[in-house]
Amino acid sequence: MSHGVTRDLGTLWVVDPVAELAGAANVALRDGRIERVDWRDGAEAAAARFRAGGEPDLGDPTDLLLPALIDLHAHFRQPGAAASEDAASGERAAAHGGYGTVCLMPNSEPAADSAEILASMVRVDGARRGVRLLPIGAATRGRAGTALAPLANLAAAGAIGFSDDGSPIADAALFRAALIGAGALGLPVIEHAEAPHLTAGGEAADGAVATRLGMRPWPSAGEIEAVARDIALLREALATEPRVRLHLTHLSTAAALDLVRSARAEGLPVSCDVTPHHIAFTDRWIAGDRRWAWELVAHGSSDRSADQSSALDPTPEAFDSNVRVCPPLRGADDAAACRAALRDGTALAIATDHAPHSRERKEMEFGLAANGIAGIETALSVALAARAAGELSLATIARSFVTGPASLLPAAHASRGISVGAPADLVVIAAAATWTPSRATLAGKSLNTPLIGRALPGVVRLTLVSGVVVWEAPER
Ligand SMILES: [Zn+2]
Repeated sequence: MSHGVTRDLGTLWVVDPVAELAGAANVALRDGRIERVDWRDGAEAAAARFRAGGEPDLGDPTDLLLPALIDLHAHFRQPGAAASEDAASGERAAAHGGYGTVCLMPNSEPAADSAEILASMVRVDGARRGVRLLPIGAATRGRAGTALAPLANLAAAGAIGFSDDGSPIADAALFRAALIGAGALGLPVIEHAEAPHLTAGGEAADGAVATRLGMRPWPSAGEIEAVARDIALLREALATEPRVRLHLTHLSTAAALDLVRSARAEGLPVSCDVTPHHIAFTDRWIAGDRRWAWELVAHGSSDRSADQSSALDPTPEAFDSNVRVCPPLRGADDAAACRAALRDGTALAIATDHAPHSRERKEMEFGLAANGIAGIETALSVALAARAAGELSLATIARSFVTGPASLLPAAHASRGISVGAPADLVVIAAAATWTPSRATLAGKSLNTPLIGRALPGVVRLTLVSGVVVWEAPER
């Protein structure tokens, strides 16, 4: 389709989590490959800089160069809900977000439980941009949770894992069978951990906000109990199939992350991810308080200070259905635990759970609105906002968006980083610039994000996949 790009990128702040290098470097591309990476202070200094967090000093370049980002969890609504998003608009949105690779959840309509539907999830009508779309197959037929989907057929058709996302695989025997079946194919089960008997009808995290606003609680126990069960069944399944691998997506509670941390310390093949909204937003956003999670003093959940509870009076922004999400937004402590999990590697990725919804599915009473936030275009900016607050280093961000998610994928999809000779799979970010999400600036079809109108750090200037430009911002 297009020729690989030939271009001198100039001197940027380069963070390569594959080689674990960071520093100012002059980078040039030729015919779609990286032709030159000249580290200003040498490769040894770049290795030391990466270990120290990958951050530049005052006076260093502020434009960042990272490998193109990888999203483990997105919904492009194809087939079934093209008014909300389709593969073509999703690809545009991903490219704008700095992504080169996106894994698509199988809760299309119908669910991706056959090779045909799996293929239709990633079919782009018209010209392709070139963002890699990797389908995840349904774990059970119709995601109904009663019989296994044909896992081997789905794997042969390109599934990179199996999930009933949107729902957990509630039946224990079936969950265990899915782990074993997927493991035998060398693929993970990607589980939406939720104990439905505890969460039915839940609207908001259990806590002061739900109480103050009179909302039905979705308790932390709904996630913690599910994760405990999943890890217990993983341990059992491992006795049958040593290649079993469990990935828990969008974890949101400190206690569930602790369970994963312990299980990993024990050597169990379990990993997890957290979302941009769970690291940066809190349940107070439902009441209209739009401070970042790290701007709130993190108290023990039973210890809310007087000034925090008075601020719970709902503002005109309250009950915005764009902050209705599953699992729900939680308190500042849980958000802090999600960031800590990224820093210590318990969570290997920031995964967007990009869940676009047309206005028809969101403009209604909070508890009736569809769950989800359209987040693939703002994920990197949210992470950079956390960075500005000293919460996440560039090294952690690069791991969470590149090498961490890549480690869950088949080896063919591994990032080759920013090394001479590698295909140009890159994103250039003007980290000191800001942008404001709006209908005019977002490339996806849906606007269901509470970040509309809010200035965010980090403008994606250029996204390259396999040496081809998939996104280039207008001239500054
Ligand atoms: Zn989910």
